[in-house]
Amino acid sequence: MNIISIKDLQTLCPAENLAADSEGALLPQPWLTDDAVNTRIAQLVSNTQNVVMLPTFIFICWWRDWITEKKISSRNLSYLKDIKPSDTVIFPRCVQNDDNPETGNHYILWVFSGRVHELRVYDSMGLYRDIPNQQMDMLCHAFSQTWNLADWTVCYPSQWLQSSRDTNNCGVFVCTMAEMELKSCSLATEVVGRSQMEHMRKYHAAALAEGVQIEDSMRFPSKTQCMAGALQVCCYQSVGEKGTLYSKVVQVLWVQCDLCLGWLHMDCAGVSEAEVKKGKFRCGCDIPQPYTFDSKIKALKQGVDGLISDTEIKALHDALQTEEKKSSRFYLWKHPEVSLKLKQCLKPKQCSFSDDNLVKLADKIRAAVKPENSLESLDYIFDVMLPEVTLATFMKHLNICRYAGEVLMASGQVLLL
Ligand SMILES: [Zn+2]
Ligand SMILES: [Zn+2]
Repeated sequence: MNIISIKDLQTLCPAENLAADSEGALLPQPWLTDDAVNTRIAQLVSNTQNVVMLPTFIFICWWRDWITEKKISSRNLSYLKDIKPSDTVIFPRCVQNDDNPETGNHYILWVFSGRVHELRVYDSMGLYRDIPNQQMDMLCHAFSQTWNLADWTVCYPSQWLQSSRDTNNCGVFVCTMAEMELKSCSLATEVVGRSQMEHMRKYHAAALAEGVQIEDSMRFPSKTQCMAGALQVCCYQSVGEKGTLYSKVVQVLWVQCDLCLGWLHMDCAGVSEAEVKKGKFRCGCDIPQPYTFDSKIKALKQGVDGLISDTEIKALHDALQTEEKKSSRFYLWKHPEVSLKLKQCLKPKQCSFSDDNLVKLADKIRAAVKPENSLESLDYIFDVMLPEVTLATFMKHLNICRYAGEVLMASGQVLLL
């Protein structure tokens, strides 16, 4: 079997990243949380077969049962119910005080190998190589359905060690040892320096971040509210127990206003990623209220036809149908069962057109979209297309974003024609 050493790793990574002697310059890194360790190991285990991972907190659940009852409740043993005799169990542990396993801030790793009847202990500080009798009794009881641990060997295999000056990378070490176990790597006994540990920390962090939705990631404050939510026009607003509108969208991008620093979903802002990258984004908070139209907007003086072309209306309709363009109005028109209350809320509050022009615009939309079912189409034209066309008109002629258009429309102070 091959032995992997730091030297081997240095052939893969730039030497300066794995330098062993620059510890003095490194700032202390935080301890990994239980969640970080458990999640990373669960992620590693999820790609393997015949391996079961037990999260750190299970030990405490067992321990509480054991010291009071001398047995463990079936509920707390449910994690073990599918284990087969030849399986491997990966069990990260948090230790410090043998008498009270509930407290502790040092991570170690236990690996139960059913294939060779061996319990391998990984501890970067070499302090917890053995398993105290009372804990061993409990483990024998816990695993008794599958294994007779009393006959097993407890060993402390050759492994990497933390440098004595490194007091906070034991979680990184445990994740790394779990990965090495899963890959059946044998390790040379070597001290892993702090800068080398930090490199592994970044590696595990990058692996953990993979697949995390942007909405959840650190790029955005976790309690970010889309400003469009206040107007009830957010494309991803929640609708009680039914989740959110456009719930099938897994990656929701956000944009922040340069002026008011408020956040919007890009779909609610009505801007694309490319547009945002090009320059500054303003949500419309700099538009004075009440808003008065500038006489320069000639289009508004040419009647309905000057506002928007049939081709533009058709393109808008198509983009809504394919969901390339997201709109809470369209979504609720298509899925009225989601929230009748919200659908009612979104009925155009204030029309921006005179009665005469409203009829002309509705006719224009009907001609451009050519709906098949005339009854349904009335709803579609008035509840979805009229407000969407109005927004598109605002965006085009006033050069504002969709959200700013929503604000204007909701203000009810804008009369177009
Ligand atoms: Zn939104
Ligand atoms: Zn703003």
